Amino acid sequence: MNKTDVAIVGGGIIGLAHAYAAWKKGYQVVLFEKDETAVGASVRNFGLIWPIGQPQGKLFERAIRSREIWLKLAVEADFWALQNGSLHLAYHQDEMDVLNEYHQKFGFKTSVLNPIEVQTVSSISNSKGLLGGLFSELEVNVNPREAVSSITDWLRAQDSVTIITGEKVVHTETGRLTAVSGEWQADMIYICSGSDFQSLYSNAFRSSGLIKSKLQMMKAVSSVQEVSKGPTLCGGLTLKHYQSFAECQGTAKLIQRLNEELPLYHKYGIHVMISKNQAGEWIIGDSHEYGLTFDPFNKADINKLILDYLSGFCTVAGNGMKITETWYGVYAKNPAGTEYTFEPETGVKIVTGFGGAGMTFSFGFAEEEIEKL
Ligand SMILES: Cc1cc2nc3c(=O)[nH]c(=O)nc-3n(C[C@H](O)[C@H](O)[C@H](O)COP(=O)(O)OP(=O)(O)OC[C@H]3O[C@@H](n4cnc5c(N)ncnc54)[C@H](O)[C@@H]3O)c2cc1C
Repeated sequence: MNKTDVAIVGGGIIGLAHAYAAWKKGYQVVLFEKDETAVGASVRNFGLIWPIGQPQGKLFERAIRSREIWLKLAVEADFWALQNGSLHLAYHQDEMDVLNEYHQKFGFKTSVLNPIEVQTVSSISNSKGLLGGLFSELEVNVNPREAVSSITDWLRAQDSVTIITGEKVVHTETGRLTAVSGEWQADMIYICSGSDFQSLYSNAFRSSGLIKSKLQMMKAVSSVQEVSKGPTLCGGLTLKHYQSFAECQGTAKLIQRLNEELPLYHKYGIHVMISKNQAGEWIIGDSHEYGLTFDPFNKADINKLILDYLSGFCTVAGNGMKITETWYGVYAKNPAGTEYTFEPETGVKIVTGFGGAGMTFSFGFAEEEIEKL
């Protein structure tokens, strides 16, 4: 029988991060991905490493550590990673108040900008009605399609790593893994199967409390060019979305106003961000519908709501913008925490449920996890 120290089920970013961390510690690693290439949440996301969205303390530090590893790996595995930061824009006083409060209480490498300063940082921000913005230096932008494929190829080239794609793992138990082509003996098995709750340990998943979210996304080209490599942009709705801002006193009232004024945005869990990849294409999203099974179709109404809101804070929307792709992604989310881990049997660990921060936490989390071995 084949033997390894660490076996990993799933070639999304969480599986890859565990493979990388285990390889760094000198373990023999085998990773199985059921599809020819990973096509789950890890290639459908924005590609944002987003410390500013994470609560202070351990989680923020994990995001910062993860960011460090992302940047190092981008050089090693040769993929694009831009340290362009983020810019939250405010068009209402309650949004500006939250940004000021965040900066004063928690701001790490952040600065509050007036409307003129905003324009110098981001030439695509809409100046009409703008009160100001919060710039943060820390956020990093990768192209997830390129990054996942480069990391997979790079790991595959390491002596002590075996990557097997196009092969589903059909059974695991203490010390043993069964894939379609045969059996492996493994001291430790990580199940990083993302939102697939059915293939393995379906009972454990059923009682886990995990839910799923379906998110709609778009890619666009536009005649509006950005002068510099500007930050990823977002508006007031994003202050509703990330846990970090919940720690500000003004946020509860802001959320109440947004929900009353924009009920459809509340219904579809929409907050709007726009980033640019290395090919100059704009990545725009997203919505959040919650459940366990989703219809396989994108809703045109949701995309319109996203684009309408975008035009309020970004000049890329509208003029000459052409949508070139639409898609949706599904992630697993632990409503009771920032991730979900569970050992259904000794030496077998399920690791999923990172919600909208799986790219951000991936490498930092995996490093901590492998350290426990
Ligand atoms: C639209 C969208 C935008 C997002 N934006 C961001 C962002 O900007 N920043 C951020 O931090 N996070 C973001 N996220 C969240 C992030 O993408 C996820 O948290 C993360 O990708 C989850 O990674 P994963 O490896 O757990 O899951 P996945 O990427 O879904 O990978 C799981 C893999 O396991 C494989 N698999 C399952 N079962 C088996 C089996 N039995 N045998 C073999 N293989 C198996 C699947 O084929 C799949 O490839 C976003 C998510 C979405 C959907």
